[in-house]
Amino acid sequence: MAAPRAPMIAGNWKMYKTESQAEEYIQGLLPRVSSVSGVDIAVCVPFTDLRAMVDSARGSRVEVYAQNMHHEPEGPFTGEVSAPMLSELDVSGVVLGHSERRELFGETDRALALKIPAALAAGLAPILCVGETEAERDGGDTERKLRHQIGEDLTGVPDERLADVVIAYEPIWAIGTGRVAIPEQAQDAIAFVRALVGGRSPEAAERVRILYGGSVKPENAGELLALPDVDGALVGGASLDAGSFAEIVAAAQP
Ligand code: PEP
Repeated sequence: MAAPRAPMIAGNWKMYKTESQAEEYIQGLLPRVSSVSGVDIAVCVPFTDLRAMVDSARGSRVEVYAQNMHHEPEGPFTGEVSAPMLSELDVSGVVLGHSERRELFGETDRALALKIPAALAAGLAPILCVGETEAERDGGDTERKLRHQIGEDLTGVPDERLADVVIAYEPIWAIGTGRVAIPEQAQDAIAFVRALVGGRSPEAAERVRILYGGSVKPENAGELLALPDVDGALVGGASLDAGSFAEIVAAAQP
């Protein structure tokens, strides 16, 4: 039998918390998760918080992720940050393709197809976000959208590295809205994403971790995390409070 997939809870801070606020947060989080076992914990923080968070979280269960990167290692790309810049800071991974970056900053599937292999090559764990809009769901287009995003975004990742990518299924209508997907919607979409990975490599489909994201809170985490194909959560708003985030981590404990 294949080894079980370790659950992962990742907090996406978005553009919240100055360095001093981040310091205060991590000092509150570390004691709350110190006795947790069997759950991978990540905080995905603004660039300006990375160094302080890496230093403060060193030796703990909490890994520090960035929220974006450029695919080139260096170059004339004002305002951008590269994978080697992140890995030299001991950053563990990076969120890529979040719907806010796709919608507000024009991040394309073509760019993601370059960014994901660049992250892997630099030793960063990518969390690839995919998901449909409300109109796409209502129009019966959810599977088409997921097939398109998974197909395009992972095109540069060889089969043997597919399971090194964490995928976050985040229905856009559930992000920051308080409108969580019902368990059946989350399970069906995530099982579909796993089947898409399985179309390339059945072995990778067994191993790849697929998170649910969209209005996860301490109150609904247990039900979502118990779904058979859900391997964890990408948490936005509720991750900004160390106590709420720690409760969600606790709900993921096997
Ligand atoms: C997110 O930003 O990835 C997210 C899921 O946000 P929220 O939990 O606030 O819906």
